[in-house]
Amino acid sequence: MQINKQLTAILLLWVRIMIHLEHISKTYTRKKEIIKAVDDVSIDIKEGEIFGIIGFSGAGKSTLVRCINLLEYPDAGGKVTVDGVELTSLNSKQLRRQRCNIGMIFQHFNLMQSRTVLENVLYPLAYKGIKKGDQIKKATGLLKLVDLSDRIDNYPSQLSCGQKQRVAIARALALDPKVLLCDEATSALDPQTTYEIIELLKKLNEKLKLTIVVITHEMDVVKDLCSRVAVMEKGKVVEQGEIFNVFLNPKSDVTTRFMKATSNLSKSESCCFI
Ligand code: ADP
Ligand code: MG
Repeated sequence: MQINKQLTAILLLWVRIMIHLEHISKTYTRKKEIIKAVDDVSIDIKEGEIFGIIGFSGAGKSTLVRCINLLEYPDAGGKVTVDGVELTSLNSKQLRRQRCNIGMIFQHFNLMQSRTVLENVLYPLAYKGIKKGDQIKKATGLLKLVDLSDRIDNYPSQLSCGQKQRVAIARALALDPKVLLCDEATSALDPQTTYEIIELLKKLNEKLKLTIVVITHEMDVVKDLCSRVAVMEKGKVVEQGEIFNVFLNPKSDVTTRFMKATSNLSKSESCCFI
């Protein structure tokens, strides 16, 4: 028994927690209606892991992930800790500094259309007040990493969806975050491009030791990319664990329904091509 306890303590020292969410709830009020988008969620995400959050539309996935960088502030009592810093206890100036530690990408890329690829990646670096020469060096290095060196002078409208997402990834990594949040990042992409973005995220996870949180409604993405997953329904995490265990031995009805519904989805329905 004693040995078991010691082993657990040693393991906990080894496995560093990068994101610690404790009793996170988020309530909205819309026309006097109270909506509990996230309902008492607690999750630990380990340093360097790729963690999936799945569930049907409206389950609360985006709201939960936006609570990680405090784009949404959780209800009183919720605690968000990233890389050992409790974000929910910081003032706005401290929070702005800590947010650099968390990059985010979205389904529709959110690029600045009037700026070139290079200028999009330079933007966060300029905002941070980094010297011009260093900005260019950093941005061109990142664009090389995402395989876009030959597109730096193009505008977003001249790129395919996959290339746009690569720019968004390079921009999200500009300030060397330890965490990358991906909200449906492959949902607007065709199957081949989805595969390429999955491979890129795996490469970044390994090379940069990046902790990645992936929200998706696509079964293949979770299976190919994530080591652990949380399943959400009506704002709650109904189950979580290793991918293998959750999908082979689902404990909740929603996981079973999700697997059935998403394994038959035709991806081409939601694709966007250049
Ligand atoms: P998912 O990402 O799983 O589709 P969301 O987190 O976007 O779910 O939404 C969860 C619930 O919270 C939904 O009922 C949605 O309508 C509601 N919601 C999300 N954002 C807001 C908001 N800003 N104001 C009011 N309701 C919201
Ligand atoms: Mg969402």
